[in-house]
Amino acid sequence: MPQLAKRMGRAKPSAIMAVADKAKKLKSEGRDIVSFSIGVPNFLPGDHVYAAARDALAKDSGQYGSNRGSDALLDAFLLHIEALGLTGYTRMHCATGVGAKHILYNLAEALLDEGDTIAYATPYWTTYADIAEVLNAKILELPCPASQDYKLTPAQLEAALATKPKVFLFNNPNNPTGMVYTRGEISALADVLVKYPDTWIITDDIYNMMVFDGLGYHNFVQARPELRDRLVFVDSLSKTYGMPGWRVGFMAGPEVVAKAMTVLNSTHITNLPEVVTAAAIAALTGPQDVPVAKCAEFQAKRDLVAATMNAIPGVICPKPQGAFYVFPDISCAFGKSHNGVAINNDVDFCSVLLEAKGVACVPGSAFGAPNALRISYTCPSAQLPVGLKRIQEFFAELS
Ligand code: PMP
Repeated sequence: MPQLAKRMGRAKPSAIMAVADKAKKLKSEGRDIVSFSIGVPNFLPGDHVYAAARDALAKDSGQYGSNRGSDALLDAFLLHIEALGLTGYTRMHCATGVGAKHILYNLAEALLDEGDTIAYATPYWTTYADIAEVLNAKILELPCPASQDYKLTPAQLEAALATKPKVFLFNNPNNPTGMVYTRGEISALADVLVKYPDTWIITDDIYNMMVFDGLGYHNFVQARPELRDRLVFVDSLSKTYGMPGWRVGFMAGPEVVAKAMTVLNSTHITNLPEVVTAAAIAALTGPQDVPVAKCAEFQAKRDLVAATMNAIPGVICPKPQGAFYVFPDISCAFGKSHNGVAINNDVDFCSVLLEAKGVACVPGSAFGAPNALRISYTCPSAQLPVGLKRIQEFFAELS
């Protein structure tokens, strides 16, 4: 029998989905499960988005569209990023894709040859490693433990860039930690980035509208505009607008990169569908009350989750300022047991917690940080205290 390509030996399905699948299975067996696992926003976009989609369906041309994205969609995206403080970009600096995941994959194809190095902070979003492995890129992980609030320091960045990685990939607000870099922190990192002109910079900032405590969203190009020539900003409708299944992602950056992305679209997907495009334009240009209300709701939920986790003796839980994740260090539980079942690491912890208490969380090792676990707190508000109480009980029952 012929063999699959070698790269498939390096490709693996998402570790996050594995937990979600197990939780789903237990649920189907009648168990009462609270899911803190998959990173879905758990809300739907406003009615105007569906109205735009229906209208587009009624008028659908049925034709192929632009490889880059329709002019109207690119213009809507440009207005959106201007409001974020990213000015001076034109359609030629932008491209669309089937979600930010597709954009990130295409960027990796466009910027990395086999054996090139991509550097990023750990904890990282699982897919970064998956993409690098499929493309046979080398990974330089920059460890950012809970003791430094999971944030990269200028000194760490400097040491990494001195080794001349081809790409530095930055994620703010962060999945899995929920941490957000302040204006001052972004500025200090940008001052380091300008010193190393051989490295491309990708900022995966898809949670940019979900920032709490009035902290605001900041990007390196605002701090140091000269970085614009080699910085690519990545965005998505998935989390902000409650549209993960619609699959719309964007990039803005140097024209040469946007052109490469457009060429890859012509090879892989041709175009985003007309109906999806119309819905995306409506989301970006229509009323913003849904994302604004959700951001306020998530901030309140963050307060509850962080306070609960920090009240558990031995747990270290830096307080996040964005996205919808909390990432407590639960290594105090390692070496203990629950009803005689040993917990030696984060995977044991999550699996015993799920079996014993019906609460699904993702082990930190899925994000390169095996001392922690990720709580995604977008579940219905009534379920949140239930799940948190079960986690508290679980810790109290460890011996
Ligand atoms: N980047 C980060 C940091 C994410 O958390 C996700 C989704 N979990 C993505 C990119 C991909 O988003 P999408 O493909 O749905 O646009």
